[in-house]
Amino acid sequence: MVNQDTIAAISTPLGKSGIGIVRLSGSSALSVAGKLFRSESGLDLAQVESHTLHHGLVYDPGSNDRIDEALFTVMKSPNTYTKEDIVEINCHGGIVPLRETLDLVLEHGARPAEPGEFTKRAFLNGRLTLDQAKSVNDIIESKTRFSLELSVDRLEGKFSEFLDSMREELTSLLAEIEVMMDYPEYEDSVVPREELMEDLAGIRERIKKFLADSKDGKIVKEGHRVAILGRPNVGKSTLLNKLLEEERAIVSETPGTTRDTIEAELSINGIPFLITDTAGIRETEGDIERKGVRKAKEQGKEADLALFLLDAGDGVNDSDVEISKEMDRDKTVLVLNKIDLVDSLPENRFTDKIGEDWANVVELSAKEGRGLAELEDAITEMVWGGEVRKDESLVLLNVQEKQMLREAVDDLGKRKRPWKMVGQLI
Ligand code: GDP
Repeated sequence: MVNQDTIAAISTPLGKSGIGIVRLSGSSALSVAGKLFRSESGLDLAQVESHTLHHGLVYDPGSNDRIDEALFTVMKSPNTYTKEDIVEINCHGGIVPLRETLDLVLEHGARPAEPGEFTKRAFLNGRLTLDQAKSVNDIIESKTRFSLELSVDRLEGKFSEFLDSMREELTSLLAEIEVMMDYPEYEDSVVPREELMEDLAGIRERIKKFLADSKDGKIVKEGHRVAILGRPNVGKSTLLNKLLEEERAIVSETPGTTRDTIEAELSINGIPFLITDTAGIRETEGDIERKGVRKAKEQGKEADLALFLLDAGDGVNDSDVEISKEMDRDKTVLVLNKIDLVDSLPENRFTDKIGEDWANVVELSAKEGRGLAELEDAITEMVWGGEVRKDESLVLLNVQEKQMLREAVDDLGKRKRPWKMVGQLI
């Protein structure tokens, strides 16, 4: 066999599907997967028979955190797709368990598979002809691209900015070292070893922090917070219900006098969202409008993006204008609801009264569901377009990038001749 190292990848498209698979192939597939696997009976994956399925939990052996409940499929060499040992971990399909499971197998000895690499191995190990391999590869490639599109965020700007600054610091460190090596006779150029080591440790710490932040990024953990805002009766609850109906969300209500809200976890175009609506608030007639404005303020602040509803039938009134002033327009979709009630909208779509600098404007009938797909597209476009969540700590890294940073942290931590590593890293 040509390849001996163990590769891993998510082999199902990312999104909120029922099941997602992390697949490992290579000589240590069993031992790597075995490190994360825990079953009630204490089964050792390395000892099980080939081509069997085992129920258990995925654990992070480092932190002892439980990641997911999963089925582990064990297929031993040589009767497998790649002719190598293969383990497929069937996780729940959300982005979070899949990513975390993949992260763990990479931390524990596997490396990220390149697109089509499983098939390449199948070919190299004599399992497939070149033609067969090519056609399978086409399918895999398209899948990978799909998942990459979803997983590699477009907030890349932040990431490359970070990489550039690290590269710059490492380059200047290296320059200092090289000057010392080339001109040892000039004492002026000598920087004490401790000082260099300290700089290096600082860089290492920052990469570590960046990794930790990206791993715990709230984007992945709990979804973007979306607030549905607008004065009473514009159709907020109707819209929420429509979204729930279409997306089969998990809904939870938060009772209480001041924070009567409904929260719904749902996935739109494969991205997890947490939608809040204050439908539960019991308003007294007199202060409805005031409360509406205050709520908009509070929720707008907490939300990562907002849907600001207007009643296309009613037009814009003072409350609308008032609320519109509280909104952060860069992250707000202006939703013109109840378009079923009007033959045509004013040409300026009310922007004369509330301004036009909204991230997006969508015409909708929450009641009939018209325009819902456009609204969902507008929301997802804002997420992938990087218009929401500009917080530096929330960069979403793909697995290769994470692996690369991890290797940098390891290399920079080497006691022996870290200088050599600096050169290689740059
Ligand atoms: P909220 O107070 O903003 O949550 O508004 P609701 O969702 O309770 O809606 C207020 C009223 O407007 C209800 O009678 C809804 O049926 C109606 N409504 C909501 N959306 C639409 C729509 O798109 N078209 C029409 N014709 N009526 C709607």
